[in-house]
Amino acid sequence: MPCLFCRIAAGEVPARTVHEDEALIAFHDIHPRAPVHVLVVPRRHISTLNELAPEDDALVGAMTRRAAAIARQLGIAERGYRTIFNCNRDAGQTVFHIHLHLLGGWSSANPFE
Ligand code: 5GP
Ligand code: ZN
Repeated sequence: MPCLFCRIAAGEVPARTVHEDEALIAFHDIHPRAPVHVLVVPRRHISTLNELAPEDDALVGAMTRRAAAIARQLGIAERGYRTIFNCNRDAGQTVFHIHLHLLGGWSSANPFE
């Protein structure tokens, strides 16, 4: 299985998992770009947002709601957080298996100042 996130979902590559269910896995990013940086990943391989089909709407909704639940679990829901999908190279996508970045935990009000 060549895809890194398929391998993590299958348990073949270790990750610091924060959530697992039938459809999704979520784990800490190996190179965090914020004090909290978690990736929410569907178990099913979908390479980019461009490949999403109407029948994936529930899956993407579940990813978004899971990111909010993990934010609560990790204590950043009230202060705030960002969720990001990168699509293809201009956006910096490096792993071609869709994933939602959950970023937060900054001490300043504006993390981009
Ligand atoms: P992208 O740039 O494709 O939107 O995000 C891919 C993310 O996956 C990057 O933030 C990168 O640090 C993370 N990543 C790459 N390889 C691994 C890995 O082996 N384990 C974990 N936990 N994260 C990884
Ligand atoms: Zn994959």
